[in-house]
Amino acid sequence: MSFDAEKVRRDFPILHQEVHGRPLVYLDSAATSQKPQAVLDAVSRYYERDNANVHRAVYELAARATRDYENARATVASHLRATDPREIVFVRGATEAINLVAQAWGRSNVGEGDEILVTGMEHHSNIVPWQILCEEKGATLRVAPLDDAGDVILEEYEKLLSPRTRLVALVHVSNALGTVNPVEEMGALARDRGIPVLVDGAQALPHMEVDVQNLGVDFYAFSGHKAFAPMGIGALWARSEHLEAMPPWQGGGEMIASVSFEKSTWNDIPWKFEAGTPNVGGAVGLAAALEYLERVGLDAVAAWESELLAYGTEVLGEVPGLEMVGRARRKAGVLSFVLDFAHPHDVGTILDREGIAVRTGHHCAQPVMERYGVPATVRASLALYNSREDLDELARGLAVVREMFG
Ligand code: PMP
Repeated sequence: MSFDAEKVRRDFPILHQEVHGRPLVYLDSAATSQKPQAVLDAVSRYYERDNANVHRAVYELAARATRDYENARATVASHLRATDPREIVFVRGATEAINLVAQAWGRSNVGEGDEILVTGMEHHSNIVPWQILCEEKGATLRVAPLDDAGDVILEEYEKLLSPRTRLVALVHVSNALGTVNPVEEMGALARDRGIPVLVDGAQALPHMEVDVQNLGVDFYAFSGHKAFAPMGIGALWARSEHLEAMPPWQGGGEMIASVSFEKSTWNDIPWKFEAGTPNVGGAVGLAAALEYLERVGLDAVAAWESELLAYGTEVLGEVPGLEMVGRARRKAGVLSFVLDFAHPHDVGTILDREGIAVRTGHHCAQPVMERYGVPATVRASLALYNSREDLDELARGLAVVREMFG
């Protein structure tokens, strides 16, 4: 499928503005993506025409809101190639999805002496929920180490899969390094030993086709806002047998079948995990975002971004004193680097004056920074609306930094 980069760019109104007197160059999509007009329109249409609380009333608007919400669930399920919309739980984002699994699944499946295995490149949101669980249960967090390039050392990972391992929790695409993990292979190694696998897909969804059946995993968590949808909505996909067996994690309206002071009973899945009024407008926006991605074509997006990533790697490779952090075999969306002539925070500030938005810091992955011996990196991250010109601008901005510091 052909990719019309100019047309895609026109779909994102926010990109067409000046910042500090220069055309905006947005290179921070790993933090959050911008939204296409189709998403903005879907959300405002929902609030203009259909808004009401869901599942609770018999009148027309409530019926429409409920239909919109449940249709959005079906869209998410079909996008992930899930077999059943009941396997989609709407949440605030990847963080909430992982906490849900750590608490609802973890509480009944992890005990003293058990182990949870993560990788050395996890975002804090796929570390801390497991630490809290381990602390509570007397379990241990194990970490599969990384090589110098930014890949998980698979032999070490395999060695760490023990009879005590209760779950593997791994990131699909690293936000700090850009590494695309071989999830199918790593998942199969765990599954062969009867160990369930949770994947943090926050950085994968905007860049590639995600097929939970092919990945062969048990849980898949993601945030809508990184995939062109509004903030405050995301989803957890989980195999229905897990969701059926898991106790609820938050109590309140909507998640119950019946309530009395003596005893309450739970709603069916997935509503058992959706206590309280959900983010219906967000779910509508999420469905619109995934439909937009499908219209553009996921293969075309992946091909375009891989071209951009190669171009960016080449352009940055020519900057004297620049060292790339993360040179994994397979990467998506992220160019993370340090300069020997300026601190990342200064780089970020100077680039901003040039209209270029990049992220600087530890990217909520402090153990990754420690592994590579840097306090912080500059991270330029890409999405389908970026262009080669954006990367040329980045190189021009770095030349300005060099003039000031070099
Ligand atoms: N995992 C990864 C790999 C991420 O990049 C992020 C966001 N930076 C998260 C999880 C957490 O996502 P959110 O803050 O949207 O819940």
